[in-house]
Amino acid sequence: MQHSIADTAPGSDLSALWRRAAELGIGFRAGIADRPQRPQAGYHEMREAFAAPTPEDGAPAAQVIEDLARLAEPGLHAMTGPRFFGWVIGSSHPAGVAADWLTSAWGQNCGNHHATPAAAAVEEVAARWLLDLLRLPADCSVGFVTGATIASFVGLAAARSEVLRRAGWDVEAKGLFGAPEIRVLIGDDAHTSVFSALQFLGLGHDRVVRVATDRNGRIDAAAFARAVAAGEGPLIAIAQAGQLNTGAIDPVAEMAPLVQAQGGWLHVDGAFALWARACPETAALAEGLELADSWATDGHKWLQTPYDCGYAITRHPEAHRRAMTIAASYLPAAEAGDRDPSHYVPELSRRARGFATWAIIKTLGRAGIAEMVGRHCRLARRMAATLGATSGITILNDVTLNQVILSFGAGRGDEAGDRLTQQVIETIQRDGALFAGGARWRGRWVMRLSVISGQMTEADADRATAAILKAWDEVRGDNA
Ligand SMILES: *Cc1c(COP(=O)(O)O)cnc(C)c1O
Repeated sequence: MQHSIADTAPGSDLSALWRRAAELGIGFRAGIADRPQRPQAGYHEMREAFAAPTPEDGAPAAQVIEDLARLAEPGLHAMTGPRFFGWVIGSSHPAGVAADWLTSAWGQNCGNHHATPAAAAVEEVAARWLLDLLRLPADCSVGFVTGATIASFVGLAAARSEVLRRAGWDVEAKGLFGAPEIRVLIGDDAHTSVFSALQFLGLGHDRVVRVATDRNGRIDAAAFARAVAAGEGPLIAIAQAGQLNTGAIDPVAEMAPLVQAQGGWLHVDGAFALWARACPETAALAEGLELADSWATDGHKWLQTPYDCGYAITRHPEAHRRAMTIAASYLPAAEAGDRDPSHYVPELSRRARGFATWAIIKTLGRAGIAEMVGRHCRLARRMAATLGATSGITILNDVTLNQVILSFGAGRGDEAGDRLTQQVIETIQRDGALFAGGARWRGRWVMRLSVISGQMTEADADRATAAILKAWDEVRGDNA
């Protein structure tokens, strides 16, 4: 049997179909706190569950959506749950999800403002709000991208364009072959995604100068000054706001003048910790970040937008546009002062990401965002204080923001300690009261706790702490 778009015409199946999808989504989110905070089925089971020959004939959409939800559910991770501490992942705020559902229903391709005036205008307003909340200069340009990786790609593309333009080279037209060499300085504990961005841009992930960092992964300002002084010519420096294990923020106030004195460009990967600027309790940690030339940050982390949402912000709108604009004769040209969303991002056809951003900022307000960031940081300190006071547990970072790394088996030697830490992680993942993962840090296995799930409360944090302590008791008992 054939199924056509007419089957879902308004008033017929459409309403039932979309209501059912909403119901399924509501059911999932309503039960999120009580379900195990890890997936029930693994990747291989999911592959088996979904494996099927290519459908020859269509099927009723209602049935397809039922099947999708039923098949997927066991393999879904409670990433929006209140005791999810694995990786730096936001919780898709309900207001953002609702706006996102509308965004999908509206089906706007927001490449330019002629095609979709509402989407283009909302992006502009949301961009101004973002700059205000993050306390960045109001005349910065903002591109709404898929996440911080692409935001860094965009920021570094603008950087590449500008430092080469200053050296008399048009990289957009001529590419990198024969161009003056660009020096790239980056902290030794930068996020891998920034190295990906450098790779995409022909700057190479290995031909960088790695600058020494301290025990929290923060760039050593003196080492950075020496690195800047050690060369000349076009310069791009990359700082980080929020090391993914420790939350450390690089000393941008000291770095920026050194870079700018050489005519260079300073980019900040602030995927989550740029948001420390939006909260009075944490703002002091992030002072000076406003001195950079460009910033990458995420919507889908601390702001809690649904995926995919990030922001590429630069102080140099012309360089930003030059690096990104696709000029094509069949596209209407933007009038002076008019902003086309596609001018600040790599894509042309694209999702109207501004709607969800707008809805969340309106729902939380400046006060709600500040409250959330402050609460997460307090919960991180609270968990670290209890865990760190327990014998055998060592907190390895200065818990100034929302990140905690810890190891188990203090005094038992590196190998035995690493084994114990891995066993505690396995135990809590099996138990399911919370989800936390492991990482290697300074040559050792650590447990990472990222406190960034929107609705997390003190009770959730305490329940998670108790579950970690219980797991440690069990592992310690087994290894006595
Ligand atoms: C998450 C993260 C990134 C990458 O962001 P995506 O949104 O996953 O592309 C980059 N840098 C840091 C510090 C991060 O935490």
